[in-house]
Amino acid sequence: MDAQGILVLYLVFFFLDLGWDYALSLLNLSHVRRNAAAVPPAFAGVVDAETHARSVRYTLTRGRFGMVSGAVSAAVVLAVVLSGLLGVLDGLFRSIPIHPYFQGILLVAAVSAIFSVVQLPFALYSTFVIEARFGFNRTTFGLWVLDLLKGLAISAVLGVPILLALYWFVDATGAWWWVWAFAAMTAFQLVMSVLAPLVIAPMFNKFTPLPEGALRDHILQLAERLRFRTRGIFVVDSSRRSRHSNAYFTGLGRAKRIVLFDTLVSSHTEEEILSVLAHEIGHEKRAHIRKGLAITVALSLVGFFILSLLLPWTPLYQAFGFSRPGTAALLVLLMFCSGPFTFFLQPLFTLRSRRQEYEADRFAVQGVGSAAGLRSALLRLGRDNLSNLTPHPLYSFFHYSHPTLAERLAALDRAEEDLRSQKALQPA
Ligand SMILES: [Zn+2]
Repeated sequence: MDAQGILVLYLVFFFLDLGWDYALSLLNLSHVRRNAAAVPPAFAGVVDAETHARSVRYTLTRGRFGMVSGAVSAAVVLAVVLSGLLGVLDGLFRSIPIHPYFQGILLVAAVSAIFSVVQLPFALYSTFVIEARFGFNRTTFGLWVLDLLKGLAISAVLGVPILLALYWFVDATGAWWWVWAFAAMTAFQLVMSVLAPLVIAPMFNKFTPLPEGALRDHILQLAERLRFRTRGIFVVDSSRRSRHSNAYFTGLGRAKRIVLFDTLVSSHTEEEILSVLAHEIGHEKRAHIRKGLAITVALSLVGFFILSLLLPWTPLYQAFGFSRPGTAALLVLLMFCSGPFTFFLQPLFTLRSRRQEYEADRFAVQGVGSAAGLRSALLRLGRDNLSNLTPHPLYSFFHYSHPTLAERLAALDRAEEDLRSQKALQPA
């Protein structure tokens, strides 16, 4: 295939991706509008009309915003690809008298910067206009800028050595460079999964041990009962930035730290918090995290192999305006191509993720001995986050990593029924 053919193929996939995304979004928004008039029957009595009306407005606002920012991003991608700007930037950096590895770093940084700058006004509008209007935003402009600068610094500190290592592997380890690069990158990710919660997360938030008391005792009892080994329970001050609440674990290996958002602790009952934690423990006990890691590692091996095939393919570079092949140019092409050439695979991942959510919910019902806590926690989270109660089925099938609230509540009812029939079978 020549450069022209590659460009045409890319544009076909680019517009398929964009068109599919818009079709799904429009379908979803019109579905929400059709269900806007009254609280959906599945939520009658548990979600009031005022909250439902607000969630409809929030969903429509976010949906329209997503389409506008998506259109601008798409226009910038097209302009960059079709104008030959990538080749111009590459030539410019190659003319600077520094080591070629640093020329490559400048190229990757410059292209990343273009997209970050384009997205900046949208990120600001999202946080300080939309999220603020619906009462979600808690961050200040100063904190927002500080977060941005810290993020940039961390990207530079981690990204520059990664890029240097990658360039070196390609140059120095011959035809099997992709295996070496894959091994190094996987080792790096493992190290980061241990270091990130200890070094990076505290740069953004404060983690304090959960004070002694009933909640702490009951969490430890639950962990003990579910044979979950923990190395401490912490509360993170997530309310500095937003009202969204959650709980998670950090650390690798057997003993993990439990982290609770302060918003979860302050706005949920103890029964709800314990159920949410039991759900998270379910992910751990059903090996979802380990399986996910294994899939990521396998996919990254395939990814590096594909990159090794593409690396010397000159017409690919010419299609995007580069004059010749290069490792940095290949990384830039990866930024442009990975979305359009993989978007149709998304349901595979969301389907798997949703199945695991059902499993974790079922585990929590069994572990706590009732579905009541999780049911009220999910409803409270749905109300507090103004979740879309009526997404279009095709939209949620394609995009949702979690089942819809109505689907989860229905599955909880089934899990509770199973629990009851189990209890009935047990000898007294
Ligand atoms: Zn989950």
